[in-house]
Amino acid sequence: MRLVAGNWKMNGSPAAVTDLVAGLTQRLRAAEVGCTAAVCPPAHLLAAAVAAAGAGLAVGSQDCSDEAGPGAFTGEISAFMLAETGCRYAIVGHSERRQRHGESNTLVRAKASRALAAGLVPIVCVGETLKQREAGDAAAVVSEQVQESLPEGWSTDTLVIAYEPVWAIGTGLTATAADIAEMHSAIGAVMGSRRAAILYGGSVKPGNAAEILGTEGVNGALIGGASLKLDDFWGIVTAA
Ligand code: PEP
Repeated sequence: MRLVAGNWKMNGSPAAVTDLVAGLTQRLRAAEVGCTAAVCPPAHLLAAAVAAAGAGLAVGSQDCSDEAGPGAFTGEISAFMLAETGCRYAIVGHSERRQRHGESNTLVRAKASRALAAGLVPIVCVGETLKQREAGDAAAVVSEQVQESLPEGWSTDTLVIAYEPVWAIGTGLTATAADIAEMHSAIGAVMGSRRAAILYGGSVKPGNAAEILGTEGVNGALIGGASLKLDDFWGIVTAA
C-alpha cells in the first residue's frame, strides 16, 4: 500500500477544511492516483474533514490516548472515539510529541496498540536527531525505536511506519536518497518477514517528491508544511 498523508499539525480552520479537503476530494474524483491520500487535521476539525472527504480521501488523527477509556482522562481522545468519528489512521510518536511531551517508545507502543484495537491504522513515527546521525547512531536509534514502539499483533495492512529524521522536519533539509534507502532497509530488517509500509517524512515538496518516492523501500510520504497547500500536496500525491 502506498500512502501520502498530510499532517496539518496545529494549523487549519473550518475554511481550510473546505479548501483543502473538499479540493482534494474533487481532484481525486477527477484523476486516478496510485496511492491512498490522507489528511490529518487537528482534532476539532476531524468530523468536518470526514464529512467533506469523499471515498478517495482518508482522514487520520495526529495522536490518540494510550488509555482505552471512556473515563477521567482530561484532554485525551481515545482511539475508539477517533474511529467513531470516521478516522482511518492515527499518527503516533511524532517527533514533536516525543520531544515536546517526552513521549517514550513505551508510551508510543501503548498508543499504537489502542489505535490497532480500535480498528485504526497507526502511523508510528521514528527518526534520529542530527546529533545522533553525526555520531553514526542513526540506524541503531531508529531500529530501537521501531523495536520498542510497534504494537503487538500488527500485520502488513494494519500498520504504517514513518521514518522522519528529526533534523529534516520543517527545515527544508532532506536526507539523501542513499540515506533514506539505508534507513528504510534497517527498519525493514527489524520487521523481519512481515512488512508494513514505510513512509519517508521531512521537507517533502512537489519538487523533490518524485525522487524521494522513487527511492528503494519508500512506500509513501508523511507531509507537514506542504500538506497545507492544495497544489503542493496534490503535486506530491500525483508524484506517488
Ligand atoms: C512532519 O512534521 O511530519 C513533516 C514531515 O513536516 P515537514 O514536511 O514540514 O518537514
